Amino acid sequence: MTIFSKIAAGEIPSYKCAESDKFYAFLDINPVAKAHTLVIPKQEVDYLFDMDDNSLAEMTIFAKRVAKAINTAFPCRKVGMAVLGLEVAHAHIHLIPLHSEGDMDFRKEKLQLPASEMQEIAAKILAAFE
Ligand code: AMP
Repeated sequence: MTIFSKIAAGEIPSYKCAESDKFYAFLDINPVAKAHTLVIPKQEVDYLFDMDDNSLAEMTIFAKRVAKAINTAFPCRKVGMAVLGLEVAHAHIHLIPLHSEGDMDFRKEKLQLPASEMQEIAAKILAAFE
């Protein structure tokens, strides 16, 4: 089981932002920006672009709903979407609220937010998720 499967199964704690029968969204623990969110399929697959077309399309539509919730909870110019997968071998999409181009810079120092604030951020996104 990957670490992200354990998160989706509730075996490892996470800051939940949204969920469906097939997908799960939670805050990135080392955010590049406030409300940096990861979207994963519950089914284990190493890399996003190895997913079958239907599952990838469904995940993209789920990610769109999460992006709208992020934008409602934390108004921003756009919600950026990135695929890296260099660290965790379980397909995932990064969703990041953008105020400027630099907000998507994965090399900059990560934010360190207290657990209480992470909880608040996730709760706001979850409340805005439709
Ligand atoms: P990458 O595989 O390169 O897309 O990076 C994996 C991302 O997952 C990084 O941004 C990590 O901060 C994040 N990450 C790793 N473990 C956890 C975790 N337990 N909870 C939340 N985010 C995580």
